[in-house]
Amino acid sequence: MTDTAGSSGSEEGASHFVAEIIAEDIENGRYDGRVHTRFPPEPNGYLHIGHAKAICLDFSMAEQFGGLCNLRFDDTNPIKEEVEYVEAIKEDVRWLGFDWGEREYYASDQFGRLYELAVRLVEKGNAYVCDLSAEEVNDYRGTPTRGGKDSPYRDRSVEENLELFERMRNGEFPDGSRTLRAKIDMAHPNILMRDPVMYRILRATHHRTGDDWCIYPTYDWAHGQCDSIEGITHSLCTLEFENHRPLYDWYLDQLGIHHPRQIEFARLNLTNTVMSKRLLARLIAEGHVDGWDDPRLPTLKGLRRRGYTPEAIRDFIGRISVAKTESVVDMAFLEHVLREHLNKTSPRVMGVLDPIKVVLTNYPEDKEEALEAINNPEDPSYGTRMVPFSRELYIERADFMEEPVKKFYRLAPGREVRLRYAYFITCQDVVKDADGNITEVHCTYDPATRGGDAPDGRRVKATLHWVSARHALPAEVRMYDDLLLDEDEDEEGEDFLDRINPDSLQVLTDCRVEPGLKDAAPGSRFQFERKGYFCVDPDTTERRPVFNLTVSMRDKWRRIQKQRQQG
Ligand code: ATP
Ligand code: MG
Repeated sequence: MTDTAGSSGSEEGASHFVAEIIAEDIENGRYDGRVHTRFPPEPNGYLHIGHAKAICLDFSMAEQFGGLCNLRFDDTNPIKEEVEYVEAIKEDVRWLGFDWGEREYYASDQFGRLYELAVRLVEKGNAYVCDLSAEEVNDYRGTPTRGGKDSPYRDRSVEENLELFERMRNGEFPDGSRTLRAKIDMAHPNILMRDPVMYRILRATHHRTGDDWCIYPTYDWAHGQCDSIEGITHSLCTLEFENHRPLYDWYLDQLGIHHPRQIEFARLNLTNTVMSKRLLARLIAEGHVDGWDDPRLPTLKGLRRRGYTPEAIRDFIGRISVAKTESVVDMAFLEHVLREHLNKTSPRVMGVLDPIKVVLTNYPEDKEEALEAINNPEDPSYGTRMVPFSRELYIERADFMEEPVKKFYRLAPGREVRLRYAYFITCQDVVKDADGNITEVHCTYDPATRGGDAPDGRRVKATLHWVSARHALPAEVRMYDDLLLDEDEDEEGEDFLDRINPDSLQVLTDCRVEPGLKDAAPGSRFQFERKGYFCVDPDTTERRPVFNLTVSMRDKWRRIQKQRQQG
């Protein structure tokens, strides 16, 4: 199923079920009318555009209701987490345009407090030290249809539990030999409530706490208590945590501490790509893409390198729905929103991706002109620039046909077309090499049409972009397409790797662009007229400029909309 994108994001703030719940809580005086959210990434990989949905939602709810949003690193697993990811996540959140101020928190900063809270549960008889192995715990847990079995250690006395828990913390027992478990109900219909593990023994160096701890809290134990300690009011998370909510509530109720409200929403899914860190890691490990910042990936690093703007991503997130049901958003809609922003903000230039030489036989050999070109027809404040013109030019090979087919209106023998901002030219002849390949197209130009208009009012059917051969700058252009081909509706359960698009990257090494692009800053964006939006690759080691195709001019989303209206 593909989601129809909702109405455009409004300036007054979003109206979706999460906003409604929060507004209602404020009205009822819950949390004294306070709103405090958090974005809680686990620093075990890079952020993707799915995370951007959570980030935008967390920060925008705080902003809309005059509250605050924390950045919290959910760093309870020392084995998979790294400082590198912490820094990258901060960079990505900042790039998206959000500011967490002083409120940068780490679950690991609360390890001491979490330990004290666990002791409190033990004292209340709500938690016990269990000597079953991980495998046995699993075995005893039962299945959704069959109740679990009590651990033989479940009825240890409070004193014994307190002593054993302290000795766990002091490193007296080997890894994996004991756990601390909440004492809830082994017959509970929700498996997560069957005496879940709160702490495991693990000798691993943590990126922040080093070797201070040899017991580490589980996600479920740490998350809600961290929310509470930070004074969070609305803990927004994705749907897979819905069945964790009873446990989230149970811990807070038993402890009787500040009790935030967990609200679940559907994750963002996109067609023609994958989103989960695990699958992204597989694409990288198996060499299908070049790394986490490969411009074909939906990681924020990848999208940034591809030329996406944070404004476009935020606009996109604001225009898709926040709902409780899973859906898939069409990649064409994301690209449509991106194109809208780039259309307004990108200077136009001319770049020829697959050049063929045009010689103007009646143009003086040593003459040069500078012709005025408009930088952005959408916005006059971008002004104009001068583009050099001379006798030998390049145009796109595909803009010429020696024997034009039906509906081909561009350059062909005997035919007149406009060179953008320059002159009308008429094709007179072609030059071929020994193998019969066209090497040059010979044309004449009409000096009276300077600037691109005929004083006698005669019209042409095509306007071509071009560069002056003598002046043009050689460049490399990387053309990107969807990473995955469309899903085959009939083939359930196929591996996503079967859908890899073999043509997702095409490197064009013989392109020519306007000389003015010589000093274009890494990351800067342009519209190559008629071809698409491109950005200067920020990471290239090439000596000539490298441009990444951000998005082509072809708006698939409009076509899909039209088809929907008709059908
Ligand atoms: P993944 O499953 O892609 O590896 P994750 O859920 O393990 O991601 P976390 O670091 O735990 O990644 O996520 C941080 C926050 O981002 C969580 O609140 C999570 O619910 C949210 N989030 C992750 N993926 C998406 C998504 N596709 N759409 C919306 N929110 C998401
Ligand atoms: Mg997760």
